[in-house]
Amino acid sequence: MTSDRLRSPILPGCAIGVLGSGQLGRMFAIAARRMGYRVHTFSPDEDTPTGQVADVEMMAPYDDLDAVRSFASNVSAVTFEFENVPAATAAAAAECAPVRPSGEVLHITQHRLREKTFLSKSGLPVTPFRRVDNVESLRNAIGELGLPAVLKSAGFGYDGKGQYAINSIDELETAWEAVSEQEAVLEAFIDFERELSVVAARCDNGQFVHYGVVENHHRNHILDVTIAPASVPASVERDAVEIARTVLEKLDVIGVLCVEFFLQKNGKLLINELAPRPHNSGHFTFDASVTSQFEQQLRAVCGLPLGSVEQLVPAAMANLLGDLWNTHEPDWNAAAGIPNVKLHLYGKLSARPGRKMGHLTALSGSTQQAYDDVKHARRLLKRDGSCRG
Ligand code: AMP
Repeated sequence: MTSDRLRSPILPGCAIGVLGSGQLGRMFAIAARRMGYRVHTFSPDEDTPTGQVADVEMMAPYDDLDAVRSFASNVSAVTFEFENVPAATAAAAAECAPVRPSGEVLHITQHRLREKTFLSKSGLPVTPFRRVDNVESLRNAIGELGLPAVLKSAGFGYDGKGQYAINSIDELETAWEAVSEQEAVLEAFIDFERELSVVAARCDNGQFVHYGVVENHHRNHILDVTIAPASVPASVERDAVEIARTVLEKLDVIGVLCVEFFLQKNGKLLINELAPRPHNSGHFTFDASVTSQFEQQLRAVCGLPLGSVEQLVPAAMANLLGDLWNTHEPDWNAAAGIPNVKLHLYGKLSARPGRKMGHLTALSGSTQQAYDDVKHARRLLKRDGSCRG
């Protein structure tokens, strides 16, 4: 077994392996190549967002553990860009190279029930939840938590997938069938004031940095817009950052992790979920911060000192989902006419509704201006002008 503690930093020129091949890996690869590293990506797909900018794109199923070992043998460290990589894959990679964050972090955060249990046992504020494994236990959990409530699959969920909002007891069976899992989590529905997140990084000597608190707007359970920084009272900012620090320390994260929060109307925070990697709500850092979340992941994984998290300018990020390609190619030329808005496209070969195809980041004099600019730019992309903000 390779020791996870690096004796000396992994320096430019070395190769870093990424498990997964989506947009997070792509932006990581861009940051890593800019600093002179080589990037290898591993996933079951080819011509992927990450593969298009990596040095090596290895295509094999995640459960082909010999392929995983061979992949990891050719790099100095392995990281991942989505947390649903099977635990056995991370373990096989760890036989040949340090995996950062560790397979244990992956194991906890890829499963809602394990994640929420870890958080509540750590004394951190988490949305009230119950484990359910059939309609009867769902009924009992509703008796305890009340309605409305949200039923979520225990594993492999993101962007609202595997979720069902239950408003009446008559929906029990339908909800259970919709989530169709052997194990699920029932959560109290939180009538939140706002959604916030903190993206933070930690390296192997315990150094911790964070990008402050940002405000997130969701549409159909998918992140739509992030405003950075969030306008929140100092006490909320302090609490959110301290919670994030505790999470990264308790999980012994070496890398980047995002904590997503609900800010309740009483001013208290609840953790909604964790993502043990760069996060969509941290994409603004690519353009607006001294060190992006992707470079920070690289620095942490390689054992380099972390970079400055200073945000140079107020920013807002808007996702571009596949819906935007509904009738024609979006009007890139029109959006390019707004000079303080940056376009990021992920190179995905087909656009489907709800699929994250790219994002826009506006850099402006104030967060309100950035928000207005990014929404305006996104509206311009829709040729018929009918795109809802
Ligand atoms: P998730 O994939 O669990 O982060 O859920 C996606 C989005 O659904 C969240 O960002 C919220 O907007 C909404 N949501 C999820 N769980 C709850 C809840 N317990 N109460 C209220 N809204 C929720």
